Amino acid sequence: MLITLRQAATKINSAEKILVTAHIQPDGDAIGSTLAMMMILRSLGKTVSVYIDDTVRRNLHALPNFDEIRRPAEGETFDADLLLVLDTSIDRIGNVRRMTDAPILNVDHHVTNRGEGIELYDEPKAAATCEIVYKLARELDADITPDIATCLYTGLATDTGFFQFSNTRAETLAIASELITLGVSPNFISEQMESKTLAEVIGLRDALNTLKMHCGAKVAGMTIDHATAKKFESTEGIIDEIRIIDTVDVAFLITEKSPNVCRVSMRSKSTDVSKVAAQLGGGGHVRAAGCTLKMSLPDAEKILVDAICAAVGCKQ
Ligand code: AMP
Ligand code: MN
Ligand code: MN
Repeated sequence: MLITLRQAATKINSAEKILVTAHIQPDGDAIGSTLAMMMILRSLGKTVSVYIDDTVRRNLHALPNFDEIRRPAEGETFDADLLLVLDTSIDRIGNVRRMTDAPILNVDHHVTNRGEGIELYDEPKAAATCEIVYKLARELDADITPDIATCLYTGLATDTGFFQFSNTRAETLAIASELITLGVSPNFISEQMESKTLAEVIGLRDALNTLKMHCGAKVAGMTIDHATAKKFESTEGIIDEIRIIDTVDVAFLITEKSPNVCRVSMRSKSTDVSKVAAQLGGGGHVRAAGCTLKMSLPDAEKILVDAICAAVGCKQ
């Protein structure tokens, strides 16, 4: 059920013990929004724990209070009166879903989130969940400390490709500007986020070697097999290296996470790739979406190329 921002704030206000989580394979917006929310809620006197059921890439470890994020142990439960799910629909939170029977409040900006059976505040026009968390902080009359601002700015910056993608709107920049006034150092965050290990740069070279063009060069794709995937802590940003090709509308990257588990990322300049992702069991935004295909890398590549080519209107 869709609710308003005010209703979401009321729901948060009336809870005392809150479990905050975000999606697996967490990105800057997932980690930034959960840590910011944790600090905001604690400043309002709530008891808050943050659980994310995955490892978090090294670039995000420098965020304030990062050490507070825990991963649920086998069978672990948490006595909460609200489960707050950020930056995803509730099907991508892993075992955190099993930690509590508390009512769920879902705050997200994915157009594919349907929020069936739960209370959802979804704002697809928001560039990042951190934009919404900023507004919730204002709605709740919470003080935005420099640490909270740093986490929120990280989500805004990473989900917009540092304010370059089409989801960047005037409000995004107005909030970013306000966060800088409140104490954020943009340069610190940029340096943390862009840092790569030598193995990752070598992995990037290997990935670029797999580049193939489809649909008369409107589609570009790369694959990372399991052996190469092991070189990466995160493959985030790699797809941008081929998205920029002048003829390309849709770019994709398939990463073989483990044998027969292929993680797909898509980026587009005009085609709605959230529909392609949804068709294959995933989701996302119009210009950035993904899914996981449980099959071999060549099979995943074939299915994906067919689906993307159909979406861009090219008959192979
Ligand atoms: P990524 O390519 O991993 O950066 O993901 C691009 C966008 O698609 C992000 O907003 C993700 O939240 C979304 N997305 C990626 N994989 C999935 C999935 N399996 N299910 C739903 N949404 C996804
Ligand atoms: Mn995210
Ligand atoms: Mn996001």
